[in-house]
Amino acid sequence: MVKYEEISVMTKSRTEWADITSSVQGVVDSSGVRSGICIVSSLHTTAAITINENADPDVGRDFFYKLNKIVDRDAAFRHGEGNSDSHIKASLVGFSCQVPIQDGKLVLGTWQSVYFCEFDGPRGHRQSSVTVLGE
Ligand code: ZN
Repeated sequence: MVKYEEISVMTKSRTEWADITSSVQGVVDSSGVRSGICIVSSLHTTAAITINENADPDVGRDFFYKLNKIVDRDAAFRHGEGNSDSHIKASLVGFSCQVPIQDGKLVLGTWQSVYFCEFDGPRGHRQSSVTVLGE
């Protein structure tokens, strides 16, 4: 079976990540799928999805610190919206992740969470799609 649902995230700063693991697990729960795969995608061109550490908040801080050094807000960018750095960061990180499902649970390591990565916030209404495939 296939279940599709969208989940919302409200972001509070220009760059941040939000742990959406429990919302994604909620979609898996409501799907009834016990064994399969879950695909989580960002529905924006300036936001990404990744899996990373949920224990030490400094991991997130370092993630954005380094990304901001790699892709700064270069004045030479031509895109009129002024957020080319956000578009580039989103593509570097990637727009989706896949997580296996076993016994009805997302298969993640002890320290892993699924993160929605904001690169052009704050935004009141950001969407991710969650597609659950399995049986
Ligand atoms: Zn733009």
